[in-house]
Amino acid sequence: MRWLSDALRILDDKGLLRTIHDRSADGAATGDRLSPVGSRIRIGDRGYVNFGSNDYLGLAGDRRSVESAREALDRFGAGAGASRLLAGGCDLHRELEYDIADFKGAESAVIFNSGYAANTGAIPALAGEDTLILSDELNHASIIDGVRLSRARRAVYRHRDMDHLSSLLSAAAETRKMVVTDTVFSMDGDIAPLQEICELCARHGSLLYLDDAHGTGVLGEGRGALAHFRLSPQPWIIQMGTFSKALGSYGAFIVASREVTGWLSSTARSFMFSTALPPPVVAASLAAVRILREDTAAVRRLWRNRERLAAGLRERGFDIHRSESPILPVTVGDTAATVSLSGELRARNLYVPAIRPPTVREPRLRITVTATHSEEDLDLLLAALSEVRGCMRSGASRG
Ligand SMILES: *Cc1c(COP(=O)(O)O)cnc(C)c1O
Repeated sequence: MRWLSDALRILDDKGLLRTIHDRSADGAATGDRLSPVGSRIRIGDRGYVNFGSNDYLGLAGDRRSVESAREALDRFGAGAGASRLLAGGCDLHRELEYDIADFKGAESAVIFNSGYAANTGAIPALAGEDTLILSDELNHASIIDGVRLSRARRAVYRHRDMDHLSSLLSAAAETRKMVVTDTVFSMDGDIAPLQEICELCARHGSLLYLDDAHGTGVLGEGRGALAHFRLSPQPWIIQMGTFSKALGSYGAFIVASREVTGWLSSTARSFMFSTALPPPVVAASLAAVRILREDTAAVRRLWRNRERLAAGLRERGFDIHRSESPILPVTVGDTAATVSLSGELRARNLYVPAIRPPTVREPRLRITVTATHSEEDLDLLLAALSEVRGCMRSGASRG
């Protein structure tokens, strides 16, 4: 196909052709972790310290999660067999909904197959042509797609700009409204000002839809962004979160009032027309929620590592922008420079992904730090970044 070859060449010329790096199994288990996506990974025949994982707490390889999944595999089989509405779910799905609602202090929960499926299913179920959706300009792509599918009117407010949000809300007094925001912004690592957002929503009678994908297991001692701000669930707050990041498994949830979750399980198309999550996956999520409920040591370790790395980056003059979380964006120049720096780090056995347009406007290295990194891992990264930047500068002055 001629158009396709041309389009691929253009993508390549722009440095936007993506490469998929698949991991290999690693025999070297460390401590009680299997470490498949932890801080050490193997790609091909090389080992790396991984700074690209959202497995913030090391739960993906935690023996307790893995053993629960294995047990569920024996009891319930590999696949769900049908959607939840056609008896595809099992006891584990129900228990997970009960436990996650309880953990979040909310009335009720409904499980979705992924964060992407939750946002593209729940947003259209909650907002239609008669609704105005107010959306932060840096919201995740799955929110943008959910808003498009909803056919609601959309007003995009400047990133975390409460004056802008307030004026857009005031201008739409008579309409049904829903404010939608990431809690932790996935590419910039900053946090939405939920106190102010909640006040605005309460004042203007707007629903609030929170995407807590990167807040779950990370903020508020693991309980998420609302807990972080000491806010409690309200009938007009819909919280989406995922099991796929800090909880080390897969899938997503929405916690809200019983009315909202009941509505979603009868109308959200990604819930209705898709096979339920496999029991072993649900069991791993359930184990992770229970671990987190009882033991927040890993969350504290995560934040200690985050502070150490953020301080080290600042000391060395790297700009981490507005980051307030374990997501640390470091800009180092244009797309070519960013990709090249990421490659230099990879040559030093450090995996730090380069994030490019259209995922972000400004290309950057996106460092994610986890509880499973050692202090030596962090120091290694800091030293390598300084060294590689030095080489690039002298290269640039030569060229
Ligand atoms: C990762 C992510 C999602 C998608 O979640 P998946 O479970 O990976 O599909 C949605 N929203 C945000 C903010 C995310 O970071």
